[in-house]
Amino acid sequence: LTQLFRPLDLLGMVYRTIRQGVIDMGSMFDLIDTDAEVKDAPGAPPLQVASGHVQFENVRFGYDPSREILKGIDLDIPAGSTVAVVGPSGAGKSTLARILYRFYDLTGGRVTIDGQDISRVTQDSLRAAIGIVPQDTVLFNDTIGYNIAYGREGATPEEVANAARGAAIAGFIQALPDGFDTRVGERGLKLSGGEKQRVAIARTLVKNPPILILDEATSALDSRTEADIQATLEAIERGRTTIVIAHRLSTVVHADRIVVLDSGRVAEQGTHAELLRRGGLYAEMWARQAQEREDGDEAADPEGAQ
Ligand code: ADP
Ligand code: MG
Repeated sequence: LTQLFRPLDLLGMVYRTIRQGVIDMGSMFDLIDTDAEVKDAPGAPPLQVASGHVQFENVRFGYDPSREILKGIDLDIPAGSTVAVVGPSGAGKSTLARILYRFYDLTGGRVTIDGQDISRVTQDSLRAAIGIVPQDTVLFNDTIGYNIAYGREGATPEEVANAARGAAIAGFIQALPDGFDTRVGERGLKLSGGEKQRVAIARTLVKNPPILILDEATSALDSRTEADIQATLEAIERGRTTIVIAHRLSTVVHADRIVVLDSGRVAEQGTHAELLRRGGLYAEMWARQAQEREDGDEAADPEGAQ
């Protein structure tokens, strides 16, 4: 914070980011730490998304120059595919998501979308192309309709209603005293974690981005609510390039590819079946979680989520 020479720029950035629905308090603090560094290159053109092919090429990054967090990440995420990123807490999974959104610039390597280096296009165009469903959704003290419409400027009531249906929250909203005009948030109706999660998903549906990041999007939910939302998430992943960051491996079995991140490196990758056969870190994590499921101990969530 001591390095904030341009507080108004920062507020603008925080405001834009909130507007784009990337609201979790963790990233708010991250933004406050770092915004001063990320700038549009002079004359930067907007990102042109053709198919949404995402590539990380030897990506290196540390929040602090003395401590590297991502230690040379190579990831090729084909357009329209779903890639899961799993691994121990602190491995760098959320950092990878923040890098794609360009909350930070790299210390080495590059990230491209359809061949365009994300550090060379405008931040606005980059962020318009990416939707993030974060772990903790903060609602505005406004109507539930407004909270959903925030996904994209100019969203119509019809788009908002469709998004609510897609996120399986339309029935809940219709049962509220004032429907979409019901006030929510601290000064209104309090929503449960699962309901807020669905609002975040609806907001992302309104945004309709070609690239989607789900960062532990269901980790705060109990297993039953998670199972309910899982089908919705899998539906919105269709036709988009999706990165799913997950703690519970049972939620990523369907991914086209699973990448296991460990201490800032790709430890292994493959399909669920391939990784089980390999008998490495993934197989070990899977066995441990299967045991926990058997013990009926899922809620304990021993690694937690950052
Ligand atoms: P994961 O999502 O895999 O649990 P993260 O990407 O959140 O891991 O964090 C990777 C490492 O980076 C951790 O050691 C964490 O403490 C550190 N880290 C995360 N965010 C910040 C930050 N804003 N400033 C400094 N260090 C951070
Ligand atoms: Mg994380």
